[in-house]
Amino acid sequence: MTSVAGLTDRVEHYRERFATFLTVEVGPAEEELARLDVGTPYNPRLDEDGRMHPAVWEARREVQRRSAKAGLYAPHVSEACGGGGFTRAEMQHVEEFVYHRSGLGLGLAALGWTEGPNAAIEHCSPAARQHWLEPLVAGEITAAFANTEISVGTDVLAMETHARRDGDSWVLDGRKAWITNAHFADVLQVTAVTEPGAGTRSLTMFLVDADAPGVTRGRDIPTMLDDGLTGELHFDGVRIPAEDVVGEPGDGFALAMAWINWRRMCRGGMCAGWGAWLLERALDRAATRTSGGKPIAELQAVQHMLADMDADVYTARAASLRAQVELDELPGGPYGMPLHPEAPRLMSLIKVINDEAFFRVADRAVQVHGGTGLRLGSPEEKLFRLARNLRIPAGTVEIQRNAIARGLLRRDHR
Ligand SMILES: Cc1cc2nc3c(=O)[nH]c(=O)nc-3n(C[C@H](O)[C@H](O)[C@H](O)COP(=O)(O)OP(=O)(O)OC[C@H]3O[C@@H](n4cnc5c(N)ncnc54)[C@H](O)[C@@H]3O)c2cc1C
Repeated sequence: MTSVAGLTDRVEHYRERFATFLTVEVGPAEEELARLDVGTPYNPRLDEDGRMHPAVWEARREVQRRSAKAGLYAPHVSEACGGGGFTRAEMQHVEEFVYHRSGLGLGLAALGWTEGPNAAIEHCSPAARQHWLEPLVAGEITAAFANTEISVGTDVLAMETHARRDGDSWVLDGRKAWITNAHFADVLQVTAVTEPGAGTRSLTMFLVDADAPGVTRGRDIPTMLDDGLTGELHFDGVRIPAEDVVGEPGDGFALAMAWINWRRMCRGGMCAGWGAWLLERALDRAATRTSGGKPIAELQAVQHMLADMDADVYTARAASLRAQVELDELPGGPYGMPLHPEAPRLMSLIKVINDEAFFRVADRAVQVHGGTGLRLGSPEEKLFRLARNLRIPAGTVEIQRNAIARGLLRRDHR
């Protein structure tokens, strides 16, 4: 076996410890959740307001707290901020392992995801670090990233939520929509206009206490994910102390992109892990399901679907790992501010390649399973819906193509 980039000793060590954590901590928690009959972690029952059943949410939270205690929750966070300081290449292996081993189980909650600590928040003030970032890294609280609005998604700079300085603090007004974890988050990473007309310097990112006067959690926005996690947030004259500005006023666009780019890069390991899991499930199904007295695995039509799944998983994984290595090696790395001009193309390549490859993989997984793959709540059905979703949040696949083309057409790139 040739050496694989990013597959370091500490990644091996992380994988071993994560496997033990799944057996010792997650397994019993999953059994307990099954007894409560509230759905599964990723196909939860919803409460009367359409939100994730509180027992499912609490089970995920408990896994997060235990995972943080075990040092497994924040390998992606810098060591200076209490995390593991892993590179993106290392994180791809970690994410693939976590997704492959967890499938759609509670184990997925053990790795900080959209509700956890992230690169953008690392730019917070020393006071905010103590108040928000350290509890986030410890899994004691959760966050939501609030950028999108009802009338503004892709066109971020057209947002209407705004904040004005008032003495030592800021006052925030506006509405955000489509926000993952809007219902449960303790701290909200909100972008708002603070200098209209200043283009990419017009926004500022704030850390907002979700319980502050003037903050209201709005309606749930049910999506095809059907997980009761996406909703609206309303801000009416919310007062924010100056220490809860992330970075400097005017850094909001760059910080929002740091968060979004993190999500884009995470596609590599997530799609490789889930893709490999779906492929294994398809192989098992093909070996046991019979047609005409023999396993469907002996039919060339089915063999070609399995081969196409393998080809998509393999190429998306390889391309992503290559891009993550290149990103790690750029001056300033994947989260530099300012970001290296070659970074956006590489991140968008990761996102578009994985979003589209994983959609084909999930589609073929359903097809190999036949009617069983369409059964509501089956892993294939859930991941097919999830795969369809992936092509929109964190920048649509069209926006990724725009960024790739911009990167290619840069004069100094050629
Ligand atoms: C399940 C889910 C979770 C989400 N979680 C969050 C979250 O936690 N925080 C958050 O802030 N947001 C979140 N979002 C919002 C998400 O980021 C936006 O939906 C996404 O950015 C697309 O914006 P839009 O929906 O307004 O689509 P639009 O911007 O209206 O796009 C519609 C179509 O037009 C195309 N288009 C638009 N502009 C261009 C252009 N310039 N060039 C080419 N094509 C273009 C798009 O590609 C798309 O096909 C979430 C969305 C979903 C569905």
